[in-house]
Amino acid sequence: MSHVQTSATYQELIRKKRDGGQLTQREIRDFVQGVKLKTIQESQIGAMLMAIWQKGMETEETHALTKEMMHSGEVMSWPAEWEGLVVDKHSTGGVGDKVSLVLAPALAACGCKVPMISGRGLAHTGGTLDKLESIPGFNIYQPVQQLQRILAEVGCCIVGQTETLVPADKVLYALRDATSTVDSLPLITGSIISKKGAESLSALVLDVKFGRAALYKDLASAKTLAQSLVTVGNSLGMRTGAVLSRMDAPIGRCVGNSLEVIESLEILKGRGSHTLIDLVTTLGTVLDVDGMVLAEVLHSLGAGRSKAGEPINHSVGAELLVSLGEQVDKGQPWLCVHFESPALSPAQTLLLQNILTLGTPLPQHTHTHTLVEETILP
Ligand code: URA
Repeated sequence: MSHVQTSATYQELIRKKRDGGQLTQREIRDFVQGVKLKTIQESQIGAMLMAIWQKGMETEETHALTKEMMHSGEVMSWPAEWEGLVVDKHSTGGVGDKVSLVLAPALAACGCKVPMISGRGLAHTGGTLDKLESIPGFNIYQPVQQLQRILAEVGCCIVGQTETLVPADKVLYALRDATSTVDSLPLITGSIISKKGAESLSALVLDVKFGRAALYKDLASAKTLAQSLVTVGNSLGMRTGAVLSRMDAPIGRCVGNSLEVIESLEILKGRGSHTLIDLVTTLGTVLDVDGMVLAEVLHSLGAGRSKAGEPINHSVGAELLVSLGEQVDKGQPWLCVHFESPALSPAQTLLLQNILTLGTPLPQHTHTHTLVEETILP
């Protein structure tokens, strides 16, 4: 079907979803392309958003929507030496939620590359882009070629969707706000994961909020959303996990665009609210070593048998040089691998680099952010 489509065909798609039907991948592609190419009227987009909000989507539809939105613009590519370093965090939205402003530079300071595509305020939740625009002269729109230069020099950037960077989300995001269709699981999943997919990330952590001031008020629906985000994120090749965090009271001490920027700068200077620092460190630092992947790499180095009776190399093994929960400094060795082959292959090295999940167990004194579930993994 051509993307120069008649509105009758879009009407049929809207009617199908309105009546509870399941859209095919092809139909979802036509809708997203219509949004991108502006061949669908705004009123029709609004009607489709409301139909999705009311009838929901099957998992396959949500997956297709996310993929089509991600590919509505450019998908970034990074230098080979950044393999495993390109990471990001995204929140489902809160009040006083300035975590991105602190976490992106903190991750960059640890050597990560953070190409964060963010959003404006949505429903009652504040938007990182609006906060940044409270800085006079700050430009949230950067060409994709510029992003690589910024990441090489600075390590992080926070930018908005453009005509070439997830353009479908740019349109749908604004119209969801205007049509009261923000709190929809498939629409949130499509919106967040399409942006992160376009960033070509190695790893993504999601801060899924629940509570009085969140998009979802109860833990059960936030968990369902987290599961959807984690499943679709992983299916697109990003190691994706989620933290469920309570959003009753504002995060930190300030609410409002410029005030939140000033508070973030204070936090980066080592001052400010403990609850905010706790959330930033929970999302951005250490926690786990994937024993299964470690065992598989050791097996491939000769520690285990692939066939009955096969000889094994008893000297192959690995020593964890730090214990779980112990602080690891930049450059500090944390794993020693014993093997006999001349060198680890690049694939084995990458697998081993990725078994470490950095994080900080939540300090006992945290009251405001009761992290009910620290991580949701696939
Ligand atoms: N953040 C996004 O980018 N999209 C949503 O739908 C919600 C939060």
